[in-house]
Formats: sequence, C-alpha cells, structure tokens
Amino acid sequence: MSAWEDNIRKVVPYVPGEQPKVDNIIKLNTNENPYGPSPRVEKIAMDMEKLKLYPDPAASALVDAIANYHEVSSDKVFVGVGSDDVLAMSFLTFFNSGKEILFPDITYSFYDVWAELYKIPYKAVPVDDDFRIIKEDYHGENGGVIFPNPNAPTSIAEPLSFVEDIVKNNQDVVVIVDEAYVDFGGETALPLVDKYENLLVVRTFSKSRSMAGLRIGYAIGNPKLIKYLSDVKYSFNSYTMNMPSIIYGVESIADDDYFKETVAKVVDTREWFKSEIEKLGFACPPSSANFLFMTHESIPAKEIFEKAREAKIIVRYFNKPRIDNYLRVTIGTRKEMESFLSFLKKLVKDN
Ligand SMILES: *Cc1c(COP(=O)(O)O)cnc(C)c1O
Repeated sequence: MSAWEDNIRKVVPYVPGEQPKVDNIIKLNTNENPYGPSPRVEKIAMDMEKLKLYPDPAASALVDAIANYHEVSSDKVFVGVGSDDVLAMSFLTFFNSGKEILFPDITYSFYDVWAELYKIPYKAVPVDDDFRIIKEDYHGENGGVIFPNPNAPTSIAEPLSFVEDIVKNNQDVVVIVDEAYVDFGGETALPLVDKYENLLVVRTFSKSRSMAGLRIGYAIGNPKLIKYLSDVKYSFNSYTMNMPSIIYGVESIADDDYFKETVAKVVDTREWFKSEIEKLGFACPPSSANFLFMTHESIPAKEIFEKAREAKIIVRYFNKPRIDNYLRVTIGTRKEMESFLSFLKKLVKDN
C-alpha cells in the first residue's frame, strides 16, 4: 500500500438490494411499494424555471406538511434525503459518548456501517431464538440505542409499552426508533415524544408512500433534538432536500385516502400470501411490515433464492449467521405474489 493510503478513512460500505437493469422481472427484493405514488403527485406541473434557484434549505413546506399530518409543531420535525440520511446525521449528532451504542444483532444492516464510518463503538445485542428483541438487554449503561420497530428483516413489531420500557430505562442517552415499516401494522412511538425528550422517531416515504425514488425521510422528536440535528445538517450540506422532493412530498402527504388504500392492499396481500405459503411448509414470524421473513422446512433458502432468480423473481437473501436459511420477500401486487406462489408450489412439488 502506498504511504498516502495509510491515512484514508477505509470503510466497508452497505450493499443495497439489486436494482436490475432488465424488464420483465418480479422485483420483491428491496421493500418498495408496488402501487406507486399518489395520482396527485403525477398531476403536479413543476415549474422547471424554478430549478435555477437553490431550494429552501429548511424544506419548510415539507416540514410543515409532515408536522400538520402528525399534529405536532414544526420545530419537532427534521427532514432528510431518505431516512438513511436522517439516520446517518443522527448517528453523527447523537452518538458521541465514546460508550457502546446498542442495536439488535439481526436488524437493518446499515447501523453497523454508520457506526464503523463514524468510529462509534457498538454492540450488536442478540435477539432471542424467535428473533424477538429482549428489552432488558438494553437496560444497562450504553452510548445510545437504535432499533427498527417493526424490525427488519424479521418483520416483527413490538407494542408501545415495550418501546417505552427501553426509552424509560435510557433517559441519559438518545434512543432512536426507526419506523420505516410502521404504517403496515406497527404501533408508533410518536405519542412518547412529548413525554421523553431523548426519543427520536424516524420515518420514510420510501415504503408506505411508495416514493423510494424521491428520497424523503424525516425524524420527529423534542425541539432540542431537532435543533442539534439541524445544526449538524447545516454544517454538512445546506441543501439536502431538492426542490422536486419538497414539492412532490407535500402532495403525497395531502392524499391520505390513496395512502391508506394502498397500504391496506399490501397488508391484505401479505396475509393471503402468508397463509398460502404456510400450506407449502414455509414458516415466518407474524409480519407487521410490507415483507415476510420466510424459511422452508426442507428446501434451503439459498437454493430458493437462486432458482427464483432464474425464474426472474428477485427476493432478498442474506448470507449471514442466524438468518442464512431465510428469505426476505417484499409484498408486491396480488398478481406478482400469485406468480411467486406458483413458482413456490412447483418448487416444493419437484423437491
Ligand atoms: C428501507 C429502510 C430505511 C431507509 O429508507 P430510505 O429509503 O432511506 O428512507 C431505513 N431503515 C429501515 C429499517 C429500512 O428498512
């Protein structure tokens, strides 16, 4: 290695699910929502001339729309370029004690990447054999806590009392609850934000609002937390939110009927698909998300993953300890799931 390479920040990056460049594929690998954004978003005529201007650095229109939607004041809302951006900023802002931060061993695989990037010590706390988070394991001294609820890739949601127990027992540090999937059946921690000033709830437009391509995420928390987060953001990049994202985001929030209707369709399809695959010898934890975490009694997950790919159906397989016999399958349209089900029926029959 050349001398100049000694002082480089070396990281092992997060690897997102594949975005295939070919058509005619059933894409069930990255937890996108198959229904697309609200028709109101499509109807917006953007004034392209406006793109010559910098966007509003505070993204106030979007912040206000989100605040209004959740019935909180705007000083409790922070927006970012997807929740990944919000979370990355939060790690940088809140996890500075030098003590280990805690998160589950089976969880969103970006957490350890950010911890490594920022040189934050961390401990991946094992979930139990049913993939449940053990709340008592988060009661000891630590530098902060983060977990998704519902958790990913397990799809399991814990009740509000469970989340409150963790927040209550960690009032000297910041606790982040990543609610990327909460709209599909989880119980939100938002009612706790007024009670605990150390709680930050993070959300995204990528899953339930079907706008992964726009990159909108947000956090809701005590105004002091939001101020600290904003100070870091403005020290990093003033214009994280681009103008189209702000405009389209506001429009998406305005169409609550469409939002609820499409989320309900995903949930219906999930429950139907789950009952069908259980007949084929698959098992999965109860899902409160837009995906299932499934394993088969005899066919290895890796084999199913590879054969599905040959059949032009892409699901997610994690070659990691404890979960290497599971597939994470995004809930697509009813038609897509019918195709995947036919594939699975044939696979099981031929096995
Ligand atoms: C998808 C996901 C995110 C990131 O979503 P963005 O597209 O960056 O908003 C964050 N956390 C979890 C648990 C996710 O699954």
